[in-house]
Amino acid sequence: MSLKEYQEKRKFDETPEPTAESRQASEREPIFVVQKHDASHLHFDFRLEADGVLKSWAVPKGPSMNPKEKRLAVQVEDHPLDYAEFEGLIPEGNYGAGTVEIWDNGTYTYIEKYKDVSTAIEEGILEFKLHGGKLKGLFTLIRTNMDGKKKNWLLIKKDDPYAVHQKWEAIDIPSYEK
Ligand code: MN
Repeated sequence: MSLKEYQEKRKFDETPEPTAESRQASEREPIFVVQKHDASHLHFDFRLEADGVLKSWAVPKGPSMNPKEKRLAVQVEDHPLDYAEFEGLIPEGNYGAGTVEIWDNGTYTYIEKYKDVSTAIEEGILEFKLHGGKLKGLFTLIRTNMDGKKKNWLLIKKDDPYAVHQKWEAIDIPSYEK
């Protein structure tokens, strides 16, 4: 767990994004956030709190509530916990330039408790239940290893009472209402 890569990619005198001060994990339920990021390519950043940081994946098409719509999720650098509240404009010329808005958030429950979340992420498979406004119920994240770099994962909705059995496009679902 390190925010070194996060820190190195950004110029904090230019971008309004939070700096990489690691915070202590608290007793509350761990959080998740999905940010719609209109950068060079529109994508959705899916983040799960673990070990005092936000483990992060860029999901080009965004999550789906349909178990048949497996979504590519490319693991990116850990982000600071404060990033969960970040919305705004990252100026031109900066890493990830474009607008960031919170698309969904809430808490999550980690399911396979025989090992901790960070270990499960290192091993490439974890299951969790999301308690969000749009994303609800069981999901799996599984690493595919197809590119040999261990960055490509699939985010898959599990079939449960929250699952939707029709085409489900994150881009068509409105952003989080404040
Ligand atoms: Mn992004």
